[in-house]
Amino acid sequence: MRAQPQASHFVDGTYVEDKAGAQIECIYPATGERIALLHSATPDIISRAVASAKRAQVEWERTLPAERGRILRRAAEIMRERNHDLSVLETLDTGKPYQETIVADALSGAEAFEFYGGLASTLSGECIPQGESFIYTKRVALGVCLGIGAWNYPTQIACYKGAAALACGNSVIFKPSEVTPLCALKIAEILAEAGLPKGLYNVVQGYGDVGAALVSHPEIEKVSLTGSVATGSKVMSAAGAGIKHVTMELGGKSPLIIFEDADLDAAVSGAILGNFYSAGQICSNGTRVFVQQSIRGDFERKLLERTRKIRMGDPLDPDTQMGSLISADHMQKVLGHIETGHTDGARLMCGGKQATVPGGERGCYVEATIFSDVTDDMRIAREEIFGPVLSILEFTDEEEVIRRANDTEFGLAAGVFTRDLTRAHRVIDRLQAGTCWINTYNAMPVEMPFGGFKQSGVGKENSRAALDHYSQIKSVYVEMGGVESPY
Ligand code: NDP
Repeated sequence: MRAQPQASHFVDGTYVEDKAGAQIECIYPATGERIALLHSATPDIISRAVASAKRAQVEWERTLPAERGRILRRAAEIMRERNHDLSVLETLDTGKPYQETIVADALSGAEAFEFYGGLASTLSGECIPQGESFIYTKRVALGVCLGIGAWNYPTQIACYKGAAALACGNSVIFKPSEVTPLCALKIAEILAEAGLPKGLYNVVQGYGDVGAALVSHPEIEKVSLTGSVATGSKVMSAAGAGIKHVTMELGGKSPLIIFEDADLDAAVSGAILGNFYSAGQICSNGTRVFVQQSIRGDFERKLLERTRKIRMGDPLDPDTQMGSLISADHMQKVLGHIETGHTDGARLMCGGKQATVPGGERGCYVEATIFSDVTDDMRIAREEIFGPVLSILEFTDEEEVIRRANDTEFGLAAGVFTRDLTRAHRVIDRLQAGTCWINTYNAMPVEMPFGGFKQSGVGKENSRAALDHYSQIKSVYVEMGGVESPY
């Protein structure tokens, strides 16, 4: 199987290569096969990308917003037409099943281009009277924006960061995770085909050192990172040294609270989606499932029955529901977390091991794993696992569960299942999390602001709110009379 792109980077409207850069081996994690070989960016590639982004941005900001929007919407159309090919590529890059990628990745990227394409023309300011004089404001671009992606949603992250930035008149340099370098290149190609002038969306490959060099580059005005808290802290410090704008989409350990009056089948669906979709490699997952004591037995029975039916297998088979993890290293990390679940005394209900899939004997598969009798101090209840591991924690009353749900340094997401609407809003209101759900989990339309509280992040992606993070307000005082001066 081959997925070799024309070259490693996309700079100034075209593919470019520099083989002097360190090798990046692209492995299909479902089989362990090498499917492409790329190179990390050299200082020369970085300089060329920044120079082209800087040059192109000046003209782009002056392009009429309606025209900017048309190009983004055209890119959305092309992505929809090519959904199958883009989904296969996403599956090869990540090991996620085609059954997911065909509905979740390129299509959500297309939605972002469509949504921000529509919003481009709505960017406006205000007029503030001062007697005969007045003040007006304009929303202007930031300049060259850097996006740094995690590996779990390479197409979606490349689109989310690109769409909002371009709509506001910025140019973009996107550095994918070196584990998933392929998808962003296709997005750059599609944007060029849709008519985006060269230099406005560049893809630069590399390890963390390339990301760090870009973050510190004086011509970069804004950094948007999707990654772990540890990387977020480093990137934010480096960006702070240059007084740059930042958006940080970081990790989580989110609570999903199920009250005794919940629709139990819906709650089980929420728990499964919020833990096993994408083999659990989703930042907002509700990995601490708090279940009220009186329904715990029924909930566990139903959850176990449905989890055992999840079809794990070849990710390219449309019947497969759960694919492989992203890499062998990550699989070892996840298995290590499962081990701590055993040593800390949690009760394993199912899974817990590496899985073998016919044809994927060298693949990175881990069984859908459920631990019960989990307590707040166990490592599986405190640390982000980023794999298919669900922990059940029992609670008795509302005050108790709110306190325990908030007892974490993370604050990315939270969910509540209950038929009592008053309780639902009361509880959600007190949960320290940026993105919340009532009677569902992980629904994330582009219209919904997404981003975390506490160590889970800074700023918002998606929705109108992201426009505030990709533009700045310029205010102008217009004097209509004379100027009085004591001098
Ligand atoms: P990492 O934090 O390891 O890496 C994120 C990106 O940052 C990668 O592209 C990485 O490059 C790059 N990077 C690493 N070090 C530096 C540095 N010093 N300066 C600049 N860039 C750097 O995260 P993962 O890729 O492992 O992704 C998993 C994490 O992402 C999880 O914690 C998860 O919760 C979080 N995440 C958050 C989401 C959100 O929206 N809140 C969504 C998805 C994931 P390289 O890969 O080459 O090292």
